Amino acid sequence: PLCPKFRGGHTLFIIIFKYVCSARLPRGAKLHVVDLRSDTVTKPRLEMRQAMAQAEVGDDDYGEDPTVNELQQSAANLLGMEGALFVPSATMANLIAVMCHCRHRGAQVLLGKEAHIYVYEHGGVAQVAGVHCQLLQDLPDGMMDLDKLEQVIQQGHGSRYHPRSELVCLENTHSSAGGRALPLQYLQEVRELAERYGLRVHMDGARMLNAAVAQGVPPARLAQHCHSVSLCLSKGVGAPVGALLAGPRELIAEAWRVRKLLGGGMRQAGVLAAAAHVGLDRVEETLQRDHVNARHFAQGVQDLGSHICSVDPTAVETNIVMVTVSAPWLSPTELCERLAAVSPEESAVMGHAVSVLAFPWAQRSLRAVWHCDISARDTQLALDKLRFVLEACEQEHREAP
Ligand SMILES: *Cc1c(COP(=O)(O)O)cnc(C)c1O
Repeated sequence: PLCPKFRGGHTLFIIIFKYVCSARLPRGAKLHVVDLRSDTVTKPRLEMRQAMAQAEVGDDDYGEDPTVNELQQSAANLLGMEGALFVPSATMANLIAVMCHCRHRGAQVLLGKEAHIYVYEHGGVAQVAGVHCQLLQDLPDGMMDLDKLEQVIQQGHGSRYHPRSELVCLENTHSSAGGRALPLQYLQEVRELAERYGLRVHMDGARMLNAAVAQGVPPARLAQHCHSVSLCLSKGVGAPVGALLAGPRELIAEAWRVRKLLGGGMRQAGVLAAAAHVGLDRVEETLQRDHVNARHFAQGVQDLGSHICSVDPTAVETNIVMVTVSAPWLSPTELCERLAAVSPEESAVMGHAVSVLAFPWAQRSLRAVWHCDISARDTQLALDKLRFVLEACEQEHREAP
């Protein structure tokens, strides 16, 4: 079944936006928006903007931007890799990684069929890199079955009838599994398995810092099992733009060329790198807080004991909460619309006007994501709003003919 996100996510945003704008508020009441659609929606704070304004810059294509160089060096240190490259997006970081690892046209990359690389990156590995995807089932915890992975690798190993398998891509945290962090043991096993057959491992680590914080280990402990990792700077880190690709020195040298090929070479990019520096300086504390808020919300939903929706609190490991909408008469899209809308009754009962934005994720679930612009109070307001909406929905359903 197609998820609503594929059918009209954009239209939905417009509908939500219209709802929000058309909300009739009591005089003097101010609309408070709690935007839980994604951790990409953060806006740079004053401190970040000041750092951007004051950044020392140069032509990064000549290797002369000191702020970019410093970011790349500190990222390499953080991830325990020989080098790192600043790129415009994690999408590009992943594509560059695939292009560096897969040296043959028609090479095969093995990855989960829910993987961001496969689902949300416009098939760049196929249409740009000329690389073929071999898909495996993603388990609910974001892992793949290793026996199955080995079977698929073995099948083509040394065979002239199969595409050459050259790369395994992991996703950590796993986005569509709801931000699950991959266990260290699993990372090690995947690496050992891949190397046994001469394959490499790339980790799509757009949210790998969330995983590291959740597991209480330095990010280098996750990266050590991979031949390269990508890291998104415009999610939990809170920067407006950017990502990093980290790996061995030769890979990063090759990645520099591929970045250029893809049009991702930037000039005075230090203004962007400066924002990332500020975000990275306090990322651990930011992500800790995001995870606490997400857990608080998950527990709060469970405590409501609603028949309409529920959360599995044990599945909430990082900053993402997947809410299952089990009442057949209410779709996740409708529930998102109700959360976003503000009625005069609500303002009267609650004494404030809160619009909560979440993302209808699949047939029976919606997604809420925590980030640095969401406080503990916002989290409580979102819970209060959910309770109000669920009570209203239940009452309407009872009274429906
Ligand atoms: C967001 C995301 C990306 C892409 O990040 P951009 O910087 O927006 O291109 C890649 N992989 C995963 C798992 C993501 O969540």
